[in-house]
Amino acid sequence: MSKDYYAILGVDRDATPEEIKKAYRRRAMKVHPDVAQDDAEAADKFKELGEAYEVLSDPNKRAVFDRGGDPRGGGGAGFSGFGGGFAGGFDFTNLVDAMFGAQSGRGGPRSRVRRGQDALVRIELELHEAVFGAAKPLKVDTAVVCPKCQGSGGEAGSEPVTCSTCGGQGDIIQIQRSFLGDIRTSQACPQCRGYGTIIPRPCSECSGEGRVRSKRTITVKIPAGVSTGNRIHLEAQGEVGPGGGPAGDLYVEISVRPHETFRREGDNLEAVLRVPMTAAALGTTMELITLENEWADSDPDARKVAVEVPAGTQSGTRMAIKDRGVPRLRGGGRGELGITFLVQTPTKLDERQRELLRELAELRDETEPGAVEAHKQGKSGGLFGRLQDWLS
Ligand SMILES: [Zn+2]
Ligand SMILES: [Zn+2]
Repeated sequence: MSKDYYAILGVDRDATPEEIKKAYRRRAMKVHPDVAQDDAEAADKFKELGEAYEVLSDPNKRAVFDRGGDPRGGGGAGFSGFGGGFAGGFDFTNLVDAMFGAQSGRGGPRSRVRRGQDALVRIELELHEAVFGAAKPLKVDTAVVCPKCQGSGGEAGSEPVTCSTCGGQGDIIQIQRSFLGDIRTSQACPQCRGYGTIIPRPCSECSGEGRVRSKRTITVKIPAGVSTGNRIHLEAQGEVGPGGGPAGDLYVEISVRPHETFRREGDNLEAVLRVPMTAAALGTTMELITLENEWADSDPDARKVAVEVPAGTQSGTRMAIKDRGVPRLRGGGRGELGITFLVQTPTKLDERQRELLRELAELRDETEPGAVEAHKQGKSGGLFGRLQDWLS
């Protein structure tokens, strides 16, 4: 439910814009943090007042509210955009920040040395690298500690000196006058950018930043079983911070290239095996070259697998070979190698083959199959749907 903005401001429903403005000023003064210092909810109350004023001072929003609608759209969203509707035209959010921010966060000059940001790089892997693991070289371009000044930001022998503008405080107090009374705000000193000190002769290599950008190649160990979207976390391999501060972390995001033969489904590897019609009918053993064949460190015996095609195999039948899928990232073991048979109907027949097939059809009483109902696939499309996915 939306709040009763009239009650919040303490005005009648037919209050004039002038009355609304006055009521807002009066109440805003009350919850002003300099007045209501012992009230922990002052900030919330102040925002609520702002919300009420935002709506009731705008004829359109007020009309929406009077009709029982939600004039601020979405309701739960944070309080923002007040500036546009306000007659004075100042940014309300900044004012709140100035009032409430000024009470806290007065910690003197800030340090030049700060932790660097985390960095994210992407790496593309072949399927076998993701499945069996790999050590991959990776080019990264991040900030490193400036080799010339070792992070200090100054030329050799150039010590930072106290900033004369702020006296080393790092910030400057300003008094702003407003209808709410005087508001104390503190701003980072423009001279020293809040550091409280100035480097008289900044390092020529890094312009005083204490860090420079550098391309380097690192080796990333890819654990077996990763998949697209997984991230590898490398501590302290990210951006070195300003002033040569500690480096952030590096995240390597995996993306796996599609493979011609094998498709990954969770911990399983799936493949389609084309089986000649006659072999499917009579049964046979076929050889499948496995994904291990692409992995230099694999057991040579694992590079192919003998697949038993039972007599009477239907197109779309799936067979699973346990423990030949993807190693599980957690928990150990491997998924399955799934093989779906695709029975191949011969297309080019010579006269003799045609004759034999005709004879077979006669023997099986299949020369005139007649009318049959189409095979029901179920809602998910069944095996046929899976097969179509594959072939597309
Ligand atoms: Zn430097
Ligand atoms: Zn300063």
